[in-house]
Amino acid sequence: MKIEDVLRLVRKNISGLAPYSTARDEYKGALGVFLDANENPFENGYNRYPDPRQQKLKEIISNIKSVPAEQIFVGNGSDEAIDLCYRIFCEPRVDNVVTISPTYGMYRVAADINDVEVREVALNSDFSLPIEQLLATCDEHTKLMFVCSPNNPSGNIYPIEQIKQLLDSFSGILVVDEAYIDFANQNSVATLLSEYKNLIVLQTLSKAYGLAALRLGLAFADESVMQLFAKVKYPYNINLAGMEQAAVLLKRDVRAEIEKLKNERERLSAELVNIPGVLHVYPSDANFILVKIENARDVYDFLIAQQIIVRDRSHVPGCEDCLRITVGTPAENERLIAVMKNRDK
Ligand SMILES: *Cc1c(COP(=O)(O)O)cnc(C)c1O
Repeated sequence: MKIEDVLRLVRKNISGLAPYSTARDEYKGALGVFLDANENPFENGYNRYPDPRQQKLKEIISNIKSVPAEQIFVGNGSDEAIDLCYRIFCEPRVDNVVTISPTYGMYRVAADINDVEVREVALNSDFSLPIEQLLATCDEHTKLMFVCSPNNPSGNIYPIEQIKQLLDSFSGILVVDEAYIDFANQNSVATLLSEYKNLIVLQTLSKAYGLAALRLGLAFADESVMQLFAKVKYPYNINLAGMEQAAVLLKRDVRAEIEKLKNERERLSAELVNIPGVLHVYPSDANFILVKIENARDVYDFLIAQQIIVRDRSHVPGCEDCLRITVGTPAENERLIAVMKNRDK
């Protein structure tokens, strides 16, 4: 798809939008007497408005992720990026989006808030992608398709060839949510960005980078799509304290932590198979494991009583009798296994 065709998908009120211009848009210098933004002039470290473009943070992320800074959006969690996709592309009560089921709940919440129809297509029983059905569910009002890969809560990742197949055949925008990509044994589809202008990749600093409390979600796309995000977002969506902390904490090398979690994931999966009542342990490319277990709700309650909190997904269609278990530290995983082994005793 050509970028002109992508921009034709944008809502008319957004294409024509004159963005709020911040007081400091016109002056680029760092030094000066700043009497333009009605700030308190007495310095305390946080008395000035932060950079609405987040240039320093984007440079850091650009180096880590090998994506040019102009192709990066930083949001108040991935949730902001998801919401912006709707606000930029979907006309309420006219347009629709297509997604898979089961998947991450925010695509539907954001759709409901924006009054946009969601068309869910059930994954195949092994959680693989029903490509033909996904495409057949689209019509001329389908602006977005959300595919979470690795998928939450199933944990599986979709082959890059299948993502390409969707990008080639879908005449809207494919949003691939890669919140868990750093735990996967497969590369990000961000490498497809130069070839496919109708691709938006979502990532986050909340999982592998260990910064969930800072609320820093990422989107990668063509520069002109990212300019739309910049135009529609709140001007100061990321605060200075968060950007400073991120700059410090992103200097840490998280590769060893990620390797440890991947090893623990395999160890925990192997242990869970042997727990009484476990019917299936789904393969995972994420930092959690979906487990089908007899009387899942009872097991969940039992674990709560032992002060171990997992996620009960047993009421979710396609996840009947399933618990989603996050991979913890080796000691935490040990404790989970010990408690589950002794459940019947
Ligand atoms: C955890 C998660 C996110 C990250 O959300 P943040 O708002 O960035 O913390 C995004 N997508 C999926 C599928 C997730 O599970």
